[in-house]
Amino acid sequence: MAAKRDYYEVLGLSKGASEAEIKKAYRRLARKLHPDVNPGDKAAQKRFQEVQEAYELLKDEEKRRAYDRFGHAGPGPGFGGGFDPRTAAGGPGAGGFAGGPGFEGFHFEGGDLGDLFGNLFGGGRRPAGPQAGEDTRAQIEVPFRDAVLGGMATLALRREKTCPTCGGSGRAGKGVCPTCRGEGVVAESERLRVRIPEGTENGGAIRLPGKGGAGRNGPPGDLYVTVRVTPHTYFERQGNDILGIVPITVKEAYAGAEIEVPTIHGPVRAKVPPGTQGRQKFRLRGQGVKDPRTGSAGDHIYTVRVMVPKSVTPAGTDAATLLDSLYEGDVRAELPKGL
Ligand SMILES: [Zn+2]
Repeated sequence: MAAKRDYYEVLGLSKGASEAEIKKAYRRLARKLHPDVNPGDKAAQKRFQEVQEAYELLKDEEKRRAYDRFGHAGPGPGFGGGFDPRTAAGGPGAGGFAGGPGFEGFHFEGGDLGDLFGNLFGGGRRPAGPQAGEDTRAQIEVPFRDAVLGGMATLALRREKTCPTCGGSGRAGKGVCPTCRGEGVVAESERLRVRIPEGTENGGAIRLPGKGGAGRNGPPGDLYVTVRVTPHTYFERQGNDILGIVPITVKEAYAGAEIEVPTIHGPVRAKVPPGTQGRQKFRLRGQGVKDPRTGSAGDHIYTVRVMVPKSVTPAGTDAATLLDSLYEGDVRAELPKGL
């Protein structure tokens, strides 16, 4: 037997998927792969069984936990498949296990599939197979601040929607629907409000379930929005740290001072220690970007720039001469010699 595919992979999900996402992925795939929709298609039938099996396991919290830990080789009876003869009523050989012909070892979730297909195949008319909408992509420009702190953004796009005239069937009476010309979908301009999660990175993607292309008698696809973060005029992001430059005076650098340092979260009072050097770096812990995965925050790291007054006066020169006498040795002593 070929190696079993990962259940999450079967459903097109990642390991941390929520219960709702699992259910949604299942419903969508079940619609697409259902034997009624793909009569005689062996590959679709095999995929359908695979999807059934993955869903049966992943929807069960306990089994899912075990699967996350042990994978298909999981311990204990009844694990890794939909059916275990030892636990079935009547024991081995009892037969009569639920599941129609061609679906050995699987039982449908009656209610779920009833919902799913009742409306599609009821009413005596059998439309062309339902087709899920395509996943689509878009890009959105987000200000630095909103990407770091989280916020809302508006995305304008043209998007396929189920045709309002024919409801997606593409038909009007015996003819072709005049609104969508039989396509079942129409393109419409739309403005979407997009929630930007705190800590969003440049190039990061946000998934908007159901906001992709319209399905033909099927569910819509998802929209994947790639975030472009507008560079900030002052701050720069490096991982979860935020970098900035803070100018200080000669006196502040020499004698020390308390200054206000701007951070993305607002100004923070900070000490400049006596004897601070130009380009020295300081760190304000936890004032950077909050990591959306770990919840821990990066730091704000600022580099001081010692500003020298540009107006040169005799008094200023005297003060500078005094400062000059205080250096302990040659400031350029560490430069390489003889180049
Ligand atoms: Zn139409």
